[in-house]
Amino acid sequence: MNPYRVWVSEVMLQQTQVSTVIPYFNKWMDLFPTLESLANSPLDIVLKVWEGLGYYSRARNLHKGAQQVMEKYQGRLPSDEKSLLEISGIGPYTCSAIRSFAFQEKCSLIDGNVKRVISRLFELNLDFSKLSDYNIVKELLETLIPEKDHWIFNEALMELGALICSPQKPLCSTCPLQEDCRAFKSSHPEDFPLKKERKKTIHLYRLLLLFQHDSEILLKQESSKLMKDLYQFFYTDAHSSFELDLSSFPWASHVKQIEPLPLVKHAYTHHQATLYPYWVLLNQKIEIETYHWMPISDAKTKPFSAGHRKILAHLLHDQITDLKAF
Ligand code: SF4
Repeated sequence: MNPYRVWVSEVMLQQTQVSTVIPYFNKWMDLFPTLESLANSPLDIVLKVWEGLGYYSRARNLHKGAQQVMEKYQGRLPSDEKSLLEISGIGPYTCSAIRSFAFQEKCSLIDGNVKRVISRLFELNLDFSKLSDYNIVKELLETLIPEKDHWIFNEALMELGALICSPQKPLCSTCPLQEDCRAFKSSHPEDFPLKKERKKTIHLYRLLLLFQHDSEILLKQESSKLMKDLYQFFYTDAHSSFELDLSSFPWASHVKQIEPLPLVKHAYTHHQATLYPYWVLLNQKIEIETYHWMPISDAKTKPFSAGHRKILAHLLHDQITDLKAF
């Protein structure tokens, strides 16, 4: 298998379902068929192709990693663990996946599915956030991996976890490991592995103002860790029983027309955000620190965070578009 394709697919599949990844992977390979083409592309385009897949640091790291591989290894991914782990965004799992699937190196491959199967097979109530517990699984797996076709063993174990040894209601009656499985014998496989405490959902409410003057809109490129390099409209914190009051804003006297846009709700990590968006046509440009004006035609090509992308889509496609001087 092509190491670059293995790398991209494994990164896309982190925290994301296969059915969601497939169209993104195909589009990515059309636009960046080689590691070199990815390294040479502007970051904005890379993020635009990733738009909607979430966890954008993955795309930034792939881009940076491709540049490192061009610089240090003339565009060829190395196969040894030490060198791979030095490349941006390649952690222990991705490193093992590249070594196992692309280079057929013998190594253990530990994803969430494998952790679950091993925990149940050996009745180990492990906390995988602890390196010591992760290493217990690694060592156990190394005793099980065959000398021959070890990459098939890795693939089979992950598939077994995904299709048979599911988190709830594992299909033990059809499982080929049933005879050796301690958790099956003691009739409580669902108790393994240790359940993580779910983070509490944080609700955010934001007033979002899509400022337009002539054919330009006001945007900023985020610098915060979670949304880094993505474009966003002007927003300010609000609350659940929100009512628009323009009088407190210094630019209120420059408003020529204001229209509400459909409310947007979107979830990311453990946040649930509700955006109250308004389209605001101004009679002159205003200045807001860190924001800058951009032609709407350019904004269409930029990567936006999920909630703000929906609002841009409303601006571009709703009947309200007719009101504006494009
Ligand atoms: Fe998982 Fe059941 Fe198979 Fe054990 S027997 S590995 S619990 S599916």
